[in-house]
Amino acid sequence: MSLASTIEWQIATVRSIHVESPRVKLFTLELPVITPFRSGQHFDVRLTAPDGYQAQRSYSVSSSPEPASNLTSIEFTVELITDGEVSSYFHEAVEVGDQIEIRGPIGGHFTWSPIATKPVMMIAGGSGIAPIMSMIRQRSNTAAIEKSPMLLIFSARTEADILFATELESIAVNDTDFHLLVALTRAEEVAPDNRPFRQFRRIDRPTIESELSNLATHPSSAYICGGSSFVEAMANHLLGIGMPNNSIRTERFGP
Ligand SMILES: Cc1cc2nc3c(=O)[nH]c(=O)nc-3n(C[C@H](O)[C@H](O)[C@H](O)COP(=O)(O)OP(=O)(O)OC[C@H]3O[C@@H](n4cnc5c(N)ncnc54)[C@H](O)[C@@H]3O)c2cc1C
Repeated sequence: MSLASTIEWQIATVRSIHVESPRVKLFTLELPVITPFRSGQHFDVRLTAPDGYQAQRSYSVSSSPEPASNLTSIEFTVELITDGEVSSYFHEAVEVGDQIEIRGPIGGHFTWSPIATKPVMMIAGGSGIAPIMSMIRQRSNTAAIEKSPMLLIFSARTEADILFATELESIAVNDTDFHLLVALTRAEEVAPDNRPFRQFRRIDRPTIESELSNLATHPSSAYICGGSSFVEAMANHLLGIGMPNNSIRTERFGP
């Protein structure tokens, strides 16, 4: 195997498909060459119809770049968008063994490194958890002795829409430096089995201020990912509580 160029198209093979929620499937793609990537980066996907028509979209990597053995495959977290061209194809047509044209890794701004040890805040909406999950997993997998304290505030509609729920809760239970709050926006105000880490309202400024009290010091950086209006609202909350603009990194998935 050789190292991949970041700009060449390669043919990846779908190795597994997992139904993560009613609207989200996880796809594990085996790469033809070892492809180093950083948590937070994405790949482009290109579909070509028999008549030559092409559609291209971006998908973040949700798997961890560590350990190095992970670099032979990547996981995509694909949300089904109603009438969406490429997400519908993934959900309705793609099968294990299929070959998909991809290009990457791409993106340098919305990335995180385990070398950073200062507290960091993550805010994700829906499938916007994908690149942040890669960061969280890398933090768990890294050999670095000192791990940065991390706070994740994750917005989902209902309990069934919480992506990676078991994995996130397990990290939150076992790692005192990882703090989790899931904000359910369309769920009944009843905690199923009194599950912890839940709030039954949207993320607002008091939510963020209250969760920040879990960190010994204010985060030096924040990562926000989701739909455009969600990202904008969250960024405004952070600016409102005094976080400098240049400490806030954002990734917008859709309109
Ligand atoms: C850097 C980057 C990383 C991304 N990573 C991911 C990822 O990890 N997982 C993932 O699921 N998506 C991700 N996206 C979004 C993805 O690239 C597609 O835009 C998305 O899958 C919709 O494509 P589509 O072809 O299905 O819909 P389209 O055919 O492009 O759009 C159909 C309709 O849905 C609307 N629409 C498009 N996207 C969205 C959206 N996200 N929410 C609501 N409405 C929408 C369009 O305006 C249009 O009206 C990422 C986008 C970017 C820019």
